[in-house]
Amino acid sequence: MLENNNVVKKGLLLVISGPSGAGKGTICKELLEKNPDFWLSVSATTRAPRKNEQQGINYFFMTKEDFVDRLAKDDFLESAEVYGNYYGTPRESVISKIEEGKDVILEIDIQGALKVKESYPEGVFIFILPPSMDELKRRIIKRGSETEESLMRRFKSAYKEVNYVSKYNYAVMNDELSEAVEKIESIITAEKCSVERMKENILSKEGIIHEQLYD
Ligand code: 5GP
Repeated sequence: MLENNNVVKKGLLLVISGPSGAGKGTICKELLEKNPDFWLSVSATTRAPRKNEQQGINYFFMTKEDFVDRLAKDDFLESAEVYGNYYGTPRESVISKIEEGKDVILEIDIQGALKVKESYPEGVFIFILPPSMDELKRRIIKRGSETEESLMRRFKSAYKEVNYVSKYNYAVMNDELSEAVEKIESIITAEKCSVERMKENILSKEGIIHEQLYD
């Protein structure tokens, strides 16, 4: 975003995370439909594409060798092994979009979110909670794309993962999709009004330093 004196204000890094089946993907899809200016990062993965998934749109599907090669080049902002496959967030595209002033969304697992928090603590970390553990189970089964063994693995880790909610800035329960999306939009609005972010805004708008405001 261009401010009065041509200083580009950095975009927000919004990390949407939570257990598998909580509905992160659906929330992000809806959020992007309502806010086409947001930019969703496309992750790299070694998992095989599911039916209807497209290269470069849902994921950058790659071999384990290619993934390890990129990892060695420090190409990922974070990476994690999730249910036996590797996933990684391409660093360069995310950082350059933020620098351009775009609000960037990462839809990643909990291990990855915690790694991003270490290297980019100014990110906004949102934990998506399922309405109940029974509902979470029902959603994972409904997805229908998993083997029995992988379903069991997802249930077990989802039970453990809910405990990580305390590491996040916000928790949004995904009971009603439209309400969950509205809550995230409100979080974004609130974050953009935070004193820390407004400080940058005031400095660039006025072109003078209002240091006394922040003493
Ligand atoms: P799925 O295989 O169902 O698409 O994703 C499995 C899990 O991996 C989900 O929780 C998803 O959010 C997470 N995931 C997707 N991309 C990334 C990524 O780049 N990094 C990390 N850490 N997790 C990811």
